Amino acid sequence: MQVTVKEIQAWLDDFARAITDNKDYLSKLDTPIGDGDHGNNMNRGLTEYLHAFETKQPTTISDTFKVLSMALISKVGGASGPLYGSAFMKLTKVTKDSTEITSTTQMAQLVEAGLAGIQARGKAIPGDKTMVDVWSAVVEDLKNNNFSKERIEMAKEQTKELQARKGRASYLGERAIGHIDPGAASSALLFQTLLPYLN
Ligand code: ADP
Ligand code: MG
Repeated sequence: MQVTVKEIQAWLDDFARAITDNKDYLSKLDTPIGDGDHGNNMNRGLTEYLHAFETKQPTTISDTFKVLSMALISKVGGASGPLYGSAFMKLTKVTKDSTEITSTTQMAQLVEAGLAGIQARGKAIPGDKTMVDVWSAVVEDLKNNNFSKERIEMAKEQTKELQARKGRASYLGERAIGHIDPGAASSALLFQTLLPYLN
């Protein structure tokens, strides 16, 4: 595996496109258990990323994550903005001296750092029906060489059976059961778009 700044930027471009393509789907997931804005929130953030990218033209992995982090923090109104923003800010820090990522072990460490950023900010643990469920599953799967489209999908689908303990969906109690968590779904898109770059 050889993931340089070129692949990281291509990945985030693909993610931005996936968010735009799935904007309505993500907001629809957020309707029964939230306020119906997750797709619009994320799309606003990723559109700002593409715009800021053109202006700032980051040339390192670390700076690329920084542009994304700032875009998400500044443009996403909802809870997901600062949470994703914290993840990518952590990635900015841990990739400070990286010019390439060469193993799944290294990629697992990066995702784990991002997860720590989300958890430091939002205090959710796995099983709380949030984006943390997908991020933590991806960390484990990368560590065990088990990272695949099916596993990502499974982690996302598993949020359906859970009652939410964090975020807006937690106000619904048992009524949140039966619905996929929107942040888990957008995180699934993040990692599905990463997949092709890990060969
Ligand atoms: P808001 O809830 O403010 O409308 P969004 O709709 O954009 O924000 O994002 C909702 C998503 O944010 C949820 O589906 C969940 O995955 C995630 N989320 C909310 N609170 C937390 C938290 N404390 N920790 C981790 N993720 C959270
Ligand atoms: Mg919402």
